[in-house]
Amino acid sequence: MTRFIFVTGGVVSSLGKGLASAALGALLQARGYSVRLRKLDPYLNVDPGTMSPLQHGEVFVTDDGAETDLDLGHYERFTGIPAKRSDNVTTGKIYSTVIERERRGDYLGATVQVIPHVTDAIKEFVRADVSGEDFIICEIGGTVGDIESLPFLEAIRQLGNEMGREHAMFIHVTLLPYVSAAGELKTKPTQHSVKELLSVGIQPDMLLCRSEMPISNDDRRKIALFCNVRQEAVIPALNVDTIYAVPIEYHNQGLDTQVLRHFGLPSTMEPDLTVWETIAGHFRQPEGEVKIAIVGKYTSVFDAYKSLAEALTHGGIANNVKINLQWMDAEIFEREDAVHFLEDVHGILVPGGFGERGSEGKIAAAKFARERNVPYFGICFGMQMAVIEAARSLADLPQAGSTEFGPCDEAVVGLLTEWTRGNQVERRSSSSNLGGTMRLGAYDCAVAPGSKLNEIYGKTLISERHRHRYEVNIHYKDRLERVGLRFSGMSPDGELPEVVEIPTHPWFVGVQFHPELKSKPFEPHPLFTSFIKAAVTQSRLV
Ligand code: GLN
Repeated sequence: MTRFIFVTGGVVSSLGKGLASAALGALLQARGYSVRLRKLDPYLNVDPGTMSPLQHGEVFVTDDGAETDLDLGHYERFTGIPAKRSDNVTTGKIYSTVIERERRGDYLGATVQVIPHVTDAIKEFVRADVSGEDFIICEIGGTVGDIESLPFLEAIRQLGNEMGREHAMFIHVTLLPYVSAAGELKTKPTQHSVKELLSVGIQPDMLLCRSEMPISNDDRRKIALFCNVRQEAVIPALNVDTIYAVPIEYHNQGLDTQVLRHFGLPSTMEPDLTVWETIAGHFRQPEGEVKIAIVGKYTSVFDAYKSLAEALTHGGIANNVKINLQWMDAEIFEREDAVHFLEDVHGILVPGGFGERGSEGKIAAAKFARERNVPYFGICFGMQMAVIEAARSLADLPQAGSTEFGPCDEAVVGLLTEWTRGNQVERRSSSSNLGGTMRLGAYDCAVAPGSKLNEIYGKTLISERHRHRYEVNIHYKDRLERVGLRFSGMSPDGELPEVVEIPTHPWFVGVQFHPELKSKPFEPHPLFTSFIKAAVTQSRLV
């Protein structure tokens, strides 16, 4: 029977609960167990699709087309298991389900209440779509004590009670702040946070204590005593230089051993962590450095491009170089003299984005890369902007633009309302609600033999994840190909341009999909490996 591990957080947010859950998943896998990770998000949005990346970080898209929390990206990067729609739920989605059922009359006249109706819907979700995995690690977003978290905590309390100790475990992630005036770590916030959990009926079985300083045995003993947790299950979680060392660090502190002990499973054999040691080793001992400019809109918030930053790191690991990321706000390139900021970079990446603001700056950056032979990687919006740039500068279409910014004389990028997926036709309209109009999830792409894309993937059919409303208009294909672009990736029905490249340029590739979502440290994405390789070559030239 599947065992459930519930991970909650206390004291403050941003403690790395997602990373801790992902690392635990990797450790259990290294011990030969199958795992699945999921996340319960207490906010009221039905999914994070409509939230600003500035507020909530990147939206992670799954193969089956769900817009989910960025923690699902960590889960995939650490375990290699593709996340599914059924792995992320929010309060908004739970309430919509309950209200839909109420309207249908499913509750047979009962008064619909948080307990049991909302909590039942949460429990149903936690247990749904499980296919015999040894462990489900279920992270609860937010911080214990938030009003929004309460139904989720009540639901997992009930689950713990129903499943029993041998099938359920509660891990609580907390913070031990260092107070310099006293010269010591403080355990009181952790004690309070555990009290808060106890007040909703949950006694944690393990504490992961985030701290910037080593935690003494005295402190561990004290925490164990006050929080009613075994001392070995008070796990110090110190900061590390790379997130890919987190599984190793947690293992050294006994995380997986204590989890197995909780479930009465043997833990004497050491897990094989070579893969993580190799990755951390490459990260720590690079043989060079490349400077990559990311010309985007949300450059002030690191989490807004989480998967992208990770995928670039993976490309660096594959080429044994350190990636020096230069986050640049696209709007600065709307000033004539600003391109000099790009003079000494070895690669330019324009990531996904929405809306007109900064678009002319992105077009200017693509122009600079094309004219100056600097490796250029355009992702989704970055591809669309590169195509508009080529249409304006090379194909004599000065009015080229995207209908995303309003009516346009030469809509090189436009809204498509109908397309095929496999043998099904999918439709959307410009008036559908925001959550429902995107081409989302995995789609196949046919790769032109002999193209750069073909060389990079070594395949003629690939599948990548999408998240966009607009498409490059196929009607401009011939005209753009005549001036040097190559449409090297197309949807299998030949209707939707998926990849454009410039064969005469050292490395100029624009992709309509989001390859960063599938890159893993132990399996760097070929596009990122190739882009960084080109940047390494470029670094030897400048
Ligand atoms: N805004 C563009 C579109 O909707 C690109 C989206 C993206 O970059 N993810 O098509």
